Amino acid sequence: MAKTVLITGSTSGIGLGIAKEFAKAGYNVAFNGLEANGAEIAAAIGQEFGVKTTFSAANMLNPDQIAQMIADAEAAFGGVDVLVNNAGIQFVSPIEDFPTAKWDAIIGINLSSAFHTSKAVWKGMKERKFGRIINITSAHGLRASEFKSAYVAAKHGVTGLTKVLGLEGAPYNITCNAICPGYVRTPLVEGQIKDQATAHGMSEADVVAKVMLKKQAIKDFVTVESLGALAVFLASDAASMMTGASLPVDGGWTAQ
Ligand code: NAD
Repeated sequence: MAKTVLITGSTSGIGLGIAKEFAKAGYNVAFNGLEANGAEIAAAIGQEFGVKTTFSAANMLNPDQIAQMIADAEAAFGGVDVLVNNAGIQFVSPIEDFPTAKWDAIIGINLSSAFHTSKAVWKGMKERKFGRIINITSAHGLRASEFKSAYVAAKHGVTGLTKVLGLEGAPYNITCNAICPGYVRTPLVEGQIKDQATAHGMSEADVVAKVMLKKQAIKDFVTVESLGALAVFLASDAASMMTGASLPVDGGWTAQ
């Protein structure tokens, strides 16, 4: 029987790229995201790869909606075998001007939602004695940059959560790992290029060359396909001894 993956924030960017790789590998995919055409995106991928898909517009700031999203996916597919916590937002500002509402939203979406989703899938994974939780953190889960207080704090928080769930899942064949991308050219990064240009007083081209890719030894953007391939591997039996780990895919950024 086909396994099921639920991916938060999967109707755009990295989440969508990961969803395609899982669909290609034959998984049923439960999509989530705030894009207005989310249901159409989910249906189109189901059709393209011949797998079953569902879509939930659950807001990752709302624990009740998160619980309902997991319950709906379990009802539709008989269980969630793989959970990918990917939904995330960014905001760039010096701390003295950092809006408190942005701090709360980033901690809520980028950190707390991973707690709520993991808690909700845990019982089913434990009962079935199989579970894979994959957190999309960032090189910023391992390193800091100025003007990103909330994002770096949230991503470091998920790095910690990944270790704890790795330990707690060990007796039940539940693993938890994090993928830590360098820069990927998605809508989130397009917005950041603009924000960084304002914060640093630079042109957008200079932000890409002199700020973003400065820390990567390989001066290129990471692809969503490479992140999806790693996620599919982490979900496989071959990765059953990997847990609690944070794996950089960052062109050598965190080698420094
Ligand atoms: P994106 O903006 O293209 O996609 C983000 C997705 O999250 C969208 O589907 C959006 O609807 C969803 N989302 C946002 N807020 C939500 C909410 N409240 N409830 C439900 N869904 C919500 O961004 P992306 O670049 O693909 O980022 C995906 C993840 O990868 C994020 O966690 C981000 O921090 C991480 N990441 C991105 C990069 C990069 O360079 N793009 C690098 C490292 C890590």
